[in-house]
Amino acid sequence: MAVFVLDKRKKPLMPCSEKRARLLLERGRARVHRMVPFTIRLVDRRVEDSALQPLRLKLDPGSKTTGMALVREKETVDASTGTIVRASTVLMLLELQHRGHAIRDALTQRRAFRRRRRGNLRYRPARFDNRTKPEGWLAPSLQHRVDTTMAWIHRLMRWTPVTAIVQELVRFDTQALQNPEILGTEYQQGTLFGYEVREYLLEKWGRKCAYCDAENVPLEIDHIHPRSKGGSDRVSNLTLACHPCNQRKGNRPLEQFLAKAPERAQKILAQAKAPLRDAAAVNSTRWALFQRLQATGLAVEAASGGRTKWNRHRLHIPKTHCLDAACVGHVDALQRWQQPVFQVRATGRGSYQRTRLTRYGFPRGYLTRSKSAYGFQTGDLVRAVVTTGKQVGTYLGRVAIRTNGRFNIQTGNGLVQGIPHRFCTRIQRADGYGYRWHPISVKGGNDAPPRPQGRGFRAMTI
Ligand SMILES: [Zn+2]
Repeated sequence: MAVFVLDKRKKPLMPCSEKRARLLLERGRARVHRMVPFTIRLVDRRVEDSALQPLRLKLDPGSKTTGMALVREKETVDASTGTIVRASTVLMLLELQHRGHAIRDALTQRRAFRRRRRGNLRYRPARFDNRTKPEGWLAPSLQHRVDTTMAWIHRLMRWTPVTAIVQELVRFDTQALQNPEILGTEYQQGTLFGYEVREYLLEKWGRKCAYCDAENVPLEIDHIHPRSKGGSDRVSNLTLACHPCNQRKGNRPLEQFLAKAPERAQKILAQAKAPLRDAAAVNSTRWALFQRLQATGLAVEAASGGRTKWNRHRLHIPKTHCLDAACVGHVDALQRWQQPVFQVRATGRGSYQRTRLTRYGFPRGYLTRSKSAYGFQTGDLVRAVVTTGKQVGTYLGRVAIRTNGRFNIQTGNGLVQGIPHRFCTRIQRADGYGYRWHPISVKGGNDAPPRPQGRGFRAMTI
C-alpha cells in the first residue's frame, strides 16, 4: 500500500512505501499531511528536484461500486517482435461505493410525502409541459456517480503525479465485432474477439438462457441454426443457453427444438436479427464521466469491457472491482496486485431536511439548525482517550454527535456509545466519505496470503 508524498509546496511527488514514510517521519524530514489516505509532506524537497515516473489511473465505473487502480507503467519494446510491452505495477487499489440508491430512495420518499400533503389542491391551474431538462441532464442518483468519481480523480491528481487515465467506457467494442481485423492479432477469432462477442451476447440476451430463462447459471453460446447444418458464426446466429438446454437442443434447428413453443421460437428469431443499438450497449453515466475526464487535461484512453475480461483471464487475476480496473486497457503484465483495498464509501454530509417524518409523512422531530456540537461534526474522524467512567480505553473512528455532548463512535470493532466530547480529539474533518482498509480476498488463487493486520488504519471502519 503506497503512501502519498507531497513536496514542501504541496505539489505531488511519487508515492513511497509505508516503511520509507515511517523513516522520513522519524528523521523529521516529513510531516503528516493527511491521515486517510495517509499522505506525508516532505519539508526539504521540491518537485523540480525530483524524478517522476508515469502514473496511470485506471477506472472501471459501476452502478454500485467504481473500481480504481493507480499503476506505475513501464513500456519496453520486445526485440523479437518489435511490439510495445506495457508492464504495470499496482500502487494503490481503491473501491468507491456510491450511494445512488440512497439518493433515489430519499427523493422518492420526499416526493410521496409532498404528494400526500398537497394532493387535494383542486383549483390549482394545470401545470405541465412547462419545464425542460437541460442538455446532458442525468438523474440525481446517476449524476452523483459521476460527481463522486470525479471528486476522487481530482483528489488523486492532487496527491499523486498522475499523467494518464484509462476508463472502461463500453462493455464491448462494436467496431471490433463488425471488423475483427482492425486492431491486429488480438482481435482475431478465439482471443479478444471471443470476449467481445460474449459480452455483447450477455447484454443482448439479458444475461439469461434464451430457451428456459434461467438466470445466474453458466451460459454457453449456442448457434440458433446449427453449425453442422451450415449455420454461420455471425452474431445474428448466436444466442445464449444454459448447459442443459444446450445439450438438449444438440444439433437440431430451432424450429424443431421449440416445436411445442412456437411463440418463443418466433421471439428468439426476431431478437437474434435485431442488432443491439449502441445506445443500449453503453450507459449514459460512463459517457458523462468520459466527457468530464477529458476536461481534466490528462491523456484519456477508453477501453472496452471485453478487453478487461480478456486481460483478467490471461493474467489469471480474480474478479473484484478494483482488480477489474487494474486490467482495463492495454496491459501485458501486472505486478503487486495482491494488496489491501482502500474502500471509500460515499456517506453524504448529513440531511438537508431539518424535519424528521413518520412513515406517513407527519412531522416527528426536528434536527438542530447547526450541524456541529462542541466543535465536532458527524462524520469527523476522532480519537477518544477515555480516562474515567465505565468506558475507559482508546477509541478511533467516525463520530456521530449529540447535542448533549455524549457522542457515539463507530470503530472497527463496533459502535461505542455515550463518549463525552471532552475526551475526543479530531484527527480529520468529515468530508462526506467513510474509509476502510479491506485485505484482498482471493478465492482459489495461487497468491500470497493477505498481509497481516498492521498498525494504523488498515482494519478500521470509519
Ligand atoms: Zn436453459
